[in-house]
Amino acid sequence: MIEKKILITGDSGFIGSHLVLLFASKYSNYEIHGLDNLTYASNRDHLKSLATKSNYQFHKMDICNREAIINLFRSHKFTDVIHLAAESHVDNSIEDPVLFMQTNILGTLNLLDAFRQYSSGRFHHISTDEVYGDLSLDEPMFDENTAYNPSSPYSASKASSDHLVRAYNRTYGLNIVVTNCSNNYGPHQHLEKFIPTIIHCLSNDKHIPIYGNGKNVRDWLYVEDHVCALDLVFHNGKNGETYNIGSNNELSNIDLVYKICDIFLDKDLIKSPHSLIQFVSDRLGHDRRYAIDYSKLSTDLNWSPRVDFDQGLLITVDWYLNYLKG
Ligand code: NAD
Repeated sequence: MIEKKILITGDSGFIGSHLVLLFASKYSNYEIHGLDNLTYASNRDHLKSLATKSNYQFHKMDICNREAIINLFRSHKFTDVIHLAAESHVDNSIEDPVLFMQTNILGTLNLLDAFRQYSSGRFHHISTDEVYGDLSLDEPMFDENTAYNPSSPYSASKASSDHLVRAYNRTYGLNIVVTNCSNNYGPHQHLEKFIPTIIHCLSNDKHIPIYGNGKNVRDWLYVEDHVCALDLVFHNGKNGETYNIGSNNELSNIDLVYKICDIFLDKDLIKSPHSLIQFVSDRLGHDRRYAIDYSKLSTDLNWSPRVDFDQGLLITVDWYLNYLKG
């Protein structure tokens, strides 16, 4: 018997692909519907194994197409939504903010309106710690009560979508949860992002561009730990609540580059990786530091990250070395 019909948006992107692979294999009693517009950031090759799953189907669709989204919900009557589809790259949001507002705000609005009409389960909105802005080196970590203070068009669009989801909970009584996660890393991430860029440059003997002085700090979480947290919050989180997801694994960008250089040296893939490091003009509005307190998720739902950073980084480098070979 089918217990739930879940729509997972953005399932052909980085985090969405890991989530849909987990759900399609773990929950044979759910009908899983993936939805993605297949932008440059997507890659269906990562989802080839879903071809044999009878509980999965895919819809190529733009969440900005309000009519198509409403019609889709009318036909399929999804019980629940896990919403990951977004424009996700901060640099692109500085170049083209309008696209980010359309996809991340209006696209979310369309899904909420369709959900309000046709669904009775839960709307789980996936967001980022970047909505909180940034921290100086000695400030305490963000928690769920930190005031929103986004710095980039990307984080402003995600902050707006978070507000919309909460407003629909308050105004229309929708069953919602919001999760705000720190930087993810792992297989399937687009080459434009920082860790894949470093690996790509080292593999091709190209300069590794590092913004500013490289001292910006990020909290890195392995993508499979993130999707385990999403699974837990989707099923057991409390209606209307927000949960921060992080890893207590703060690292400056330059130290991260050194770590990946060390992996290349250990594998004897390169002689002098450090000579490839090139500092470039800083990103506009570049956030100094992100650090996220996930004690609520850990206390309420007993979650903690499992993958040690050095181990996760090694898996990631190996995956990309193989992927880049073609
Ligand atoms: P991604 O860019 O790899 O994937 C996003 C997916 O959304 C892509 O497959 C893309 O084709 C799809 N998409 C974009 N516009 C669409 C549209 N108009 N209609 C339908 N599909 C569309 O992003 P990601 O890193 O997997 O991030 C997924 C979600 O998680 C995003 O909401 C992001 O804000 C959030 N998030 C990401 C991170 C991170 O470190 N990557 C951290 C915290 C939160």
